[in-house]
Amino acid sequence: MAAALETTGLGDVHFHDLRHTGNTLAATGGATTRELMQRMGHSSGHLVQRYEKTISTLARRNLLGYLANRNVLPKYGFPVDTVELRTSYSDSPVGGKLDLARDLSTAIYEYAPGAEVVAGGLVWRSGGVYRLPGRELVGKHYFACEQCQHYWEGDEDIDPTCPSCSFVARRRPGQYYVPEFGFVAESQPSKTTIAPPRRSWNGATYVRSLAAEAIRETTWQAGAGGTAYVRSGSRGQLVALSEGPTGAGYLICDWCGAGRPLDGKRVTSHSHLLRGIECAGPMRQRSLAHPYETDLLDLAFDRLAMPVNADTASWRSLLYALLEGAAERLELSRDDIDGMLHRRPGNEVGIVMFDTVPGGAGGVLRIADALDRVVRAALDRVSACDCGEETSCYGCLRSFRNQRHHEELSRGAALGVLRPLVSSKGLARAFHLEPRPDLSEETKGA
Ligand SMILES: [Zn+2]
Ligand SMILES: [Zn+2]
Ligand SMILES: [Zn+2]
Repeated sequence: MAAALETTGLGDVHFHDLRHTGNTLAATGGATTRELMQRMGHSSGHLVQRYEKTISTLARRNLLGYLANRNVLPKYGFPVDTVELRTSYSDSPVGGKLDLARDLSTAIYEYAPGAEVVAGGLVWRSGGVYRLPGRELVGKHYFACEQCQHYWEGDEDIDPTCPSCSFVARRRPGQYYVPEFGFVAESQPSKTTIAPPRRSWNGATYVRSLAAEAIRETTWQAGAGGTAYVRSGSRGQLVALSEGPTGAGYLICDWCGAGRPLDGKRVTSHSHLLRGIECAGPMRQRSLAHPYETDLLDLAFDRLAMPVNADTASWRSLLYALLEGAAERLELSRDDIDGMLHRRPGNEVGIVMFDTVPGGAGGVLRIADALDRVVRAALDRVSACDCGEETSCYGCLRSFRNQRHHEELSRGAALGVLRPLVSSKGLARAFHLEPRPDLSEETKGA
């Protein structure tokens, strides 16, 4: 199949064609399964259907993942990391008919234990993560530095010393699971009400490794003398972490996967996630994570462009001004790009921008090539807004996604950084300057 697709010149095929191909592949997989089941002697139609559905989901996921990982298909736009909220364990007949699938990076929030989803006229509450018998969920220990937010992960013996600022963590490391087999809804869905379904968006995305492929380096010089260094490439590694409504994660049963948000209430016992009987398995404190690869852009400045003592508010305001400027000038969807402040070893701050689509869609790679226009657009946007300079609004720096930083974002701070970058001749590509040497230093997880 892979060879057949390759010879058709898939590189130029559009997204819709590919999605169609995906459906066809799934259907092919399903038919084979039915034959297989019949040959194996499973005559029960219901059982066959159920296996068929499960296996075709797996086949589709694995096949597409296989093709995408070998660059036969582009990874973006494909349900490569798709997981389900299983409603088929429900008492309700509606449960068997639903197909609730999401990309894992969204599912860790929308299907997290305790979260609610409206489907088929009912409210489905996630009861926990699905575990395959005999297969452990993949997990890691991690720290996000209390002082500088640098992220690092490792195994049980993870070093609590921050590789960036040397601050020694006072808390124990967090632990996460990658819920790669999906989630299970509680067996009793409830009637829809007018109250919006409950969701927990608490969490953040961190850089696991800046290591990337096909790295391009560009250097830009500001009229006022500052220099900006850009490194961009594909297959940088990020991790999205869902840490529950209180930020402390979830309690997840080691045996059955039943889960609930950690809210300080004492848990005495719980029902088995799939069987409904009482389960005596231990509940462990875990976050949910989706580690993924995508296109990354790493932006650093020298001291003329951004003084070493610039505060976090200035950096963050600059970050969101650039993202908004890029979305506007390069006609990218703001939802498809995002960014964060990133501390490198040595406690130096930089900006990392990335494509939110797992696999990357080339958005930030375009920013790397047009930093001059992006900076100009960012300045235009923050100059034109009429909210107070010491604050910010949805017309300049704020968006739904950066809610937890709204108070910190200041239009004035962004102006303060952007003006010197754009003064006199503006930002210009500096072909004569060497790329920044220390930028090649990677921050790999322990
Ligand atoms: Zn630190
Ligand atoms: Zn259990
Ligand atoms: Zn504003």
